[in-house]
Amino acid sequence: MAPMNIVFIASEAAPLAKTGGLADVAGSLPLALSRLGHRVTVILPYYRKQIGASGAPVNAMNKAVTIWVDGVNRTAPLHKAVVEGVDFILVEQDDLFARDGIYGPAGGAWEDNFPRYLFFSRAALETSCMLGAPVDILHCHDWQTGFIPLLAKTQYQHRTHLAKAKSVFTIHNLAYQGCFPSFWLHRLGLPADYYHTGCYEFYSQINCMKAGIAAADHVTTVSKTYAEEILTPEYGCALNGFLGDHKNKLSGIVNGLDIENWDPSGDSAIAAPFGPGKLAGKAACKAALQAETGLSSDSEQPMLTMISRLAEQKGVDLLLDCIPGWLQEGYQIAILGSGEPAWEAALHRLAAERPQQMYFHAGFDEGLARRIYAAGDIFLMPSRFEPCGLGQLMAMRYANIPVVRATGGLKDTVTDYAQDRNNATGFAFTEPNPDAFRAALDSAVETWRKPIVWKHVMGNAIKRDSSWDASANSYLELYASLND
Ligand code: ADP
Repeated sequence: MAPMNIVFIASEAAPLAKTGGLADVAGSLPLALSRLGHRVTVILPYYRKQIGASGAPVNAMNKAVTIWVDGVNRTAPLHKAVVEGVDFILVEQDDLFARDGIYGPAGGAWEDNFPRYLFFSRAALETSCMLGAPVDILHCHDWQTGFIPLLAKTQYQHRTHLAKAKSVFTIHNLAYQGCFPSFWLHRLGLPADYYHTGCYEFYSQINCMKAGIAAADHVTTVSKTYAEEILTPEYGCALNGFLGDHKNKLSGIVNGLDIENWDPSGDSAIAAPFGPGKLAGKAACKAALQAETGLSSDSEQPMLTMISRLAEQKGVDLLLDCIPGWLQEGYQIAILGSGEPAWEAALHRLAAERPQQMYFHAGFDEGLARRIYAAGDIFLMPSRFEPCGLGQLMAMRYANIPVVRATGGLKDTVTDYAQDRNNATGFAFTEPNPDAFRAALDSAVETWRKPIVWKHVMGNAIKRDSSWDASANSYLELYASLND
């Protein structure tokens, strides 16, 4: 395959700026593609605070793009960070992006998110026109970049760099569509006849996700099962019919993991290294987390863990229903998460009642996340829906056995003990209710109490191939088919 010039445009990418799985993908898939011989550039907003805190060296490029906004020209200087050989170009506009939160203040959204990401989308298209070679693929991610395929087709088709570019739009989570009042329409600068239900109009609002689905040359989502689920009313978030109209250009490619970055045999954030066939270090990681968090130094009880946004999607209500019974049983629980204040308060209350048995930290903390992945025996992911999920991949890699609801990517990546004992990497339940979750957890704990069987499951999980190898090649095949 001839080398391609691929441009990733995303609103977050690890290790520079991260709130969730999108960042993991937008950070690691470009590395995987570039290792396969392609030229990949990632374009991100310059979140000065978050990217500054990441410690990555950032250099001014002495280049800028100019965007017309509401009758005024705005100039955006460009900066560059190089991560493992991949160029990340950062679009500066401090009044829009140098803020305390990426998408909003804690638990909220900035009121000007539409103009923020529209500005970024236009700046990213202009930046693409300044790269060293014409672009083959514009790969856009989630609603923040939803207008790029349409803008590329209507306003950039005459620019040499983008004339032949094909666009791919990846849905990382259909629940977040980017809907905004129609009074922003004038900012788009698009002919009025694009504003209809077959394009980005949605109940008299602007829907950025719809724009991406309508105009992209191909739409992907992050697992095969989620690609099927979103065509149903249950998971389609009111876009199932619209997606059905575009299903001939929709496919699912499961996410991978940067397995060098997420590697318990070389992770400097954890207390002791461990790996396939050498699981002894895991006990030291559990003891270290117990000491760090004030949990009792008990190795006779399983440690249940969770690292998650605290949102309805993640099944936090199911978790809260189950926790009191699990504490009664004597299990230890360690949870890291941030999100809805009511969930945070409920978890704080439960932890305060039994501080030696339950630990909860509200906030976003990558180092603590790594220590919890490494320490835990069982990882909880009772999601009501889950496009792919990165948490279970990280957990399996750290021999922290996931108990998941069989939906979306969780169904595609976790092999259920009840279905296939020999190859099991976790435990799954189907119905989204606390009884089903409890039954799956009971089965996991019963298995944990049989050390030989548990060791076998841990071995399967830690050896699972969660690398990008297969999926990066699937993306390349897709890109090549669009350029044929
Ligand atoms: P989503 O993108 O829906 O939030 P994923 O499972 O796809 O869920 O990805 C979540 C990513 O964010 C994982 O890398 C997980 O480790 C990380 N993460 C989630 N919550 C926290 C937190 N509070 N602190 C640190 N990392 C977190």
